[in-house]
Amino acid sequence: MNEGLVTTSYLVSGIFFILSLGGLSKQENARRGNLYGIIGMALAIFATFMSGKVSNFELLIPLMLGGAIIGAVMAKRVEMTSMPELVAILHSFVGLAAVLVGVASFLDTTHTSLAGTDKLIHEIEILLGVFIGGVTFTGSVVAFGKLRGSLSGKPILLPFRHFLNLGMVGASIYLGAQFLGQGHDAALITLLIIIAISLVLGVHLIVAIGGADMPVVVSMLNSYSGWAAAAAGFMLKNDLLIITGALVGSSGAILSYIMCNAMNRSLANVIFGGFGTGSGRGGASSEIEGSITETSALEVAEELKDSTEVMIVPGYGMAVAQAQHVVKEITETLRDKDVNVRFAIHPVAGRLPGHMNVLLAEANVPYDIVFEMDEVNDELPEVDILMVVGANDIVNPSALEEENSPIAGMPVIEAWKAKTVIALKRSMATGYSGVENPLYYKENCRMLFGDAKDSLGQVLSALK
Ligand code: NDP
Repeated sequence: MNEGLVTTSYLVSGIFFILSLGGLSKQENARRGNLYGIIGMALAIFATFMSGKVSNFELLIPLMLGGAIIGAVMAKRVEMTSMPELVAILHSFVGLAAVLVGVASFLDTTHTSLAGTDKLIHEIEILLGVFIGGVTFTGSVVAFGKLRGSLSGKPILLPFRHFLNLGMVGASIYLGAQFLGQGHDAALITLLIIIAISLVLGVHLIVAIGGADMPVVVSMLNSYSGWAAAAAGFMLKNDLLIITGALVGSSGAILSYIMCNAMNRSLANVIFGGFGTGSGRGGASSEIEGSITETSALEVAEELKDSTEVMIVPGYGMAVAQAQHVVKEITETLRDKDVNVRFAIHPVAGRLPGHMNVLLAEANVPYDIVFEMDEVNDELPEVDILMVVGANDIVNPSALEEENSPIAGMPVIEAWKAKTVIALKRSMATGYSGVENPLYYKENCRMLFGDAKDSLGQVLSALK
């Protein structure tokens, strides 16, 4: 394939990737978006293979097949609840790849012919690639550990942490300047030191971020991984990798901005860490005034039958229980009885942006009864029954009422404004951010304890 054809194919792939992102922005078009992405990537791989710049097929093809099989098996096996961890670890691969490409690019003898500005630009590309890649790699590994629960969600805050971060960035810039003027062997050592600093910086940045801000961290690392890929694209002189990296980098940055707005945080605050540290109510439930009232599936069914407006607020627990299908059946049964059922989705419900929308779509819940938090918060006083299905932090009034709460300032679904709240969960355990929830102690709230799928199954039987 001649170079012009390869460039055209890359351009067409790039267009498919843009169409893919556009498609993925709405549930209705998500499948199409996915398909565009697959076509774009297939075309990109084909064009790269045909470009004449790739050799070693006997090594490459088995490696790619091995990777594809591992990826397919992992994707098939992964539970929706573990998706965020998978995403985080995949980001770490991109970071590691950028570091390895940077080192390989530096060691590649074909670049020794470069001189003057070309050499300078190539070396800056290497520096940026390994630095962003290193931060992305270890940052994503730490995020993976936090999301998996292997590492504590509590922020670890070293004294003078901002100075430490600044020092590490400053040292890397200084060493980077040295690197540009050094001979090959000395420059290699400098490059390795910069990589080591970036690896430490990645760990330090992410351990300082509290559990409640993890949604933003995941999307931020998504963005970093895009920029790392774009840097690798520059090093490899691969236009498509630059386009793709820039698409991932900028869409991740936009998503981080949206998530920050949803959580009422500034991006700078999240990046420099330390949130989720408020004293809040992480302790005994006795600190909250009032007592809880339990209810039964039978009572809930009776109340649902007598209501006109029902709102369902799903959360992470619905994903754990895999209760989305029974939620859908209850919705259908109630709608057949002329009850208006709607869903309210918080932007950070679950453990992944769009987590709840995906589960509801999987259960074929009609899109037109699924609303975002902002669309329904004002209408909650008219709701007869609000069912909280395995959600906790996203309906926690302390976010609005307690200044010191780790989730203070995060907009929440103001569930307590509904006439009656039914909260489904297994125990009085806290949610992801570890904050006690005063909602359960409000007069209009009843607790239906048990696995959400089992409890709702009983509600459904009683309804029928
Ligand atoms: P939470 O983690 O706050 O609460 C989930 C609740 O579900 C728990 O209190 C748990 O209580 C209950 N639960 C768990 N399993 C079951 C089950 N089988 N049946 C019934 N209930 C169950 O989830 P939310 O969705 O309310 O909030 C999301 C949180 O996750 C936020 O803090 C957000 O910042 C964070 N986060 C979000 C990400 C995103 O991108 N969306 C990414 C990373 C973090 P019990 O154990 O008593 O049953």
